[in-house]
Amino acid sequence: MFDNLQDKLEGAFKVLKGQGSISEINVAETMKEIRKALLDADVNYKTAKTFTEDVKQKALGQNVLTAISPGQLLTKIMNDELTALMGGSVEELNIKQNPTVILIAGLNGAGKTTFTGKLALHLKSQKGKKPLLVAGDVYRPAAIDQLEVLAGQVGAEVYTNRESTDPVAIAMEGIAHGKKNGNNVIIIDTAGRLTLDDALMDEIAEVKKATQPQEILFVVDAMTGQDAVNTAKVFNDRLDFTGVVLTKLDGDTRGGAALSIKSVVNKPIKFIGTGEKMDALDVFYPDRMASRILG
Ligand code: GDP
Repeated sequence: MFDNLQDKLEGAFKVLKGQGSISEINVAETMKEIRKALLDADVNYKTAKTFTEDVKQKALGQNVLTAISPGQLLTKIMNDELTALMGGSVEELNIKQNPTVILIAGLNGAGKTTFTGKLALHLKSQKGKKPLLVAGDVYRPAAIDQLEVLAGQVGAEVYTNRESTDPVAIAMEGIAHGKKNGNNVIIIDTAGRLTLDDALMDEIAEVKKATQPQEILFVVDAMTGQDAVNTAKVFNDRLDFTGVVLTKLDGDTRGGAALSIKSVVNKPIKFIGTGEKMDALDVFYPDRMASRILG
């Protein structure tokens, strides 16, 4: 994960690490290198600029120039700032209400259905919940089959209605079924599209209005970099979602989405997907991710 970014940041710090004494000039040089590394990792331009300016201010404010080991001090400042950039502290799911309704949204192929299964397993095994999965993708029968298979794998119940083509009706039926059945979390998988379109947004907005979910999780493929951030913006403008799920972080992703999304849409990343298997899901900890990036 983020190997390229790690290498580049390490390269940027070399100048400072080797210095006995240090000047404002090589702090500025280092910041330039860091900014380049961030842009190469597909971090949003404004985010990268603000970030390096903040780090520079902090570095000069904390007397990095007279520090015994400026490289180390700068690494600590970077760590703190990266953590803050990704949201600061961990944001737990809001699952207090009984039943809690969680709506899953995102483009096709982002990993929504896979995440729905993973979340059910997480809620069952880590939180002692009894989740119900609702198959709300009315356009792809294969998506319903997929959800049934995943539900079977994780031992969760699933609600489907193959006769209906009305996602709002299916969602409401699913909630009614879950209430009767004693499910305390109801996760509604929704249809995606290959690209953004108004009809999709209208449809999910309708499902939101009818179901009044406590959580709306926007699922996005981390491999898509800045596109992930742009898509997040469109979904958030329309749905005002409560959290982001970044998938496919096990792949050769550059890190831009993880680093930019919080500062662009001001919503926390709540989970990361790290593989195709049902247990390949982690709660997102900004501080752990920052340490990982800095190596
Ligand atoms: P949906 O169209 O949004 O429901 O996407 P799917 O859940 O069907 O996922 C699309 C593809 O991405 C599938 O082949 C999944 O196995 C794969 N996938 C989902 N999440 C991850 C992940 O975190 N890592 C990897 N490597 N693959 C994933």
